[in-house]
Amino acid sequence: MDVFGKRGTHDDLDASIGLNNLGTQFWNLSPAELTEDVIINGQGVLSDSGALAIETGEFTGRSPKDRFVVCDELTENSVWWGDVNIKFSPEKFDALYNRMKAYLNGRDVYVRDAFACADPQYRMNLRVVTEFAWSNMFAYNMFLRPSDEEIESFLPDWHIVCAPGFKADPEIDGTRQHNFAILNFTKKMIIIGGTGYTGEIKKGIFSVLNYVLPHEKNVLSMHCSANIGNEGHDTAVFFGLSGTGKTTLSSDENRRLIGDDEHGWAANTVFNFEGGCYAKTIDLSREKEPQIYDAIRFGSILENIGFQEGSSTPDYEDKSITENTRVSYPIHYIDNIATPSIGDAPKNIFFLTADAFGVIPPISRLTKEQAMYHFMSGYTAKVAGTEMGITEPTTTFSACFGAAFLPLHPAKYATLLGDKLNGTDIKVWLINTGWTGGSYGVGHRMKLSHTRSMITAALTGKLDNVGYETLPVFDLAIPTSCENVPSEILNPRSTWVDKTAYDETANNLAAKFVKNFEKYAAETSDEIKAAAPKVMV
Ligand code: ATP
Ligand code: MN
Repeated sequence: MDVFGKRGTHDDLDASIGLNNLGTQFWNLSPAELTEDVIINGQGVLSDSGALAIETGEFTGRSPKDRFVVCDELTENSVWWGDVNIKFSPEKFDALYNRMKAYLNGRDVYVRDAFACADPQYRMNLRVVTEFAWSNMFAYNMFLRPSDEEIESFLPDWHIVCAPGFKADPEIDGTRQHNFAILNFTKKMIIIGGTGYTGEIKKGIFSVLNYVLPHEKNVLSMHCSANIGNEGHDTAVFFGLSGTGKTTLSSDENRRLIGDDEHGWAANTVFNFEGGCYAKTIDLSREKEPQIYDAIRFGSILENIGFQEGSSTPDYEDKSITENTRVSYPIHYIDNIATPSIGDAPKNIFFLTADAFGVIPPISRLTKEQAMYHFMSGYTAKVAGTEMGITEPTTTFSACFGAAFLPLHPAKYATLLGDKLNGTDIKVWLINTGWTGGSYGVGHRMKLSHTRSMITAALTGKLDNVGYETLPVFDLAIPTSCENVPSEILNPRSTWVDKTAYDETANNLAAKFVKNFEKYAAETSDEIKAAAPKVMV
């Protein structure tokens, strides 16, 4: 389908980002050529379905503490500085980049031209320069792929330079440790070193778009997946932190996939930022996730998986490298997709939470005020793996379900969402894809087939005319029946053997919500504040 072969000149990278004295430059190689290079370089093998399997090295997840933003005239008063957006000086950026250039001296690099944003009105041109062939192939899979003519006349807006083999020296470079990902909005560059984790590349550009789109274009950028019914006009978006089910639940055989992770909501459209998916493969089975399973073939890149002994058959249960095993593939590897990756404004919004306490109902309908409250709270329990150092579920409040990628204050995104919800009949649902029957350790994870049935019921209007009851403390409206789901699991309290323990746990979680929200109290309306859970004393 796509055509390849534009070879740049040595001058291109020198003129734009001062990269010179390089070894061979491989421009816009095809997946087949990149696959060959990876195998010849001893950096990967083919699985029995033809997918390329690689290991990302020391880092098998993102490293949020080593993610910096250059603080200068442009960003000083616009970026929301703190633990998420850690300041880096322009001088130190230049010095570190100089050392990176020295590292790349004489080395071969892979260059990839790509787009972000499926809506042409918001398109951003990216040039990705990588030390490794597989990082470049990841960029091919995950970003939008220009046509041959588009490649010929390609002019990059942003550059990403990714050199996993280059290790920073904190003493000299002012980093925290040897790995780093640094965003420079003035130079329109992202530099990544010391880590091969591919997710840093995609989430780097996501962070850039989370600045540019709301700040400069009045578009709400969202950490969500999206799909649309086969007839169109019923877009659904699924917000959620890592491991809550964005990718899994957006691949639905009855609906067209728009995208699995990053979208913009403009005046009348929801559009994907990316051209591919990045799915978890831990415990993957064809039975539970057929679309994802079948996407794992030539051109896909498996990360950090193990194999069944003596074979090239993946063992998706193998956690010996990490729990965060992944596969990236171009979006058209999924059968049923929206082309281009654009839908209209959503009719249904789902907030996915993997509640490790087993308190939140598997599905509940939110009022507009509750929607705003839960959007700003961004509650989940982090599931092991995607970030370094997290090995069991831990309570997290992450504003807008994606604080780690938000350069602006959360109020900016919340205001945009509020404006979009006001005066519409968009339905907002809270879905617990986490625990039921007790907290983590006692209860068990919600059955995927049940979650799918609840979402299908919501999307097909089958929850519009059923009875609802109110869950105390959280004041959530829970349907009392749902097609293909046993009624007794709909109310979380009834799934717990020990009701007193449920009430206590719910109360404790409510208190955490309240405490977390204190920081927003000053700038939040009374109506939204009234949507907070009511802690019983
Ligand atoms: P990331 O932002 O890191 O890509 P994500 O939100 O896309 O995360 P998924 O890749 O969809 O998360 O991961 C959800 C994982 O949880 C999958 O491995 C899926 O099989 C598993 N899972 C188990 N039970 C459920 C459930 N009830 N609903 C959704 N996912 C479930
Ligand atoms: Mn995902």
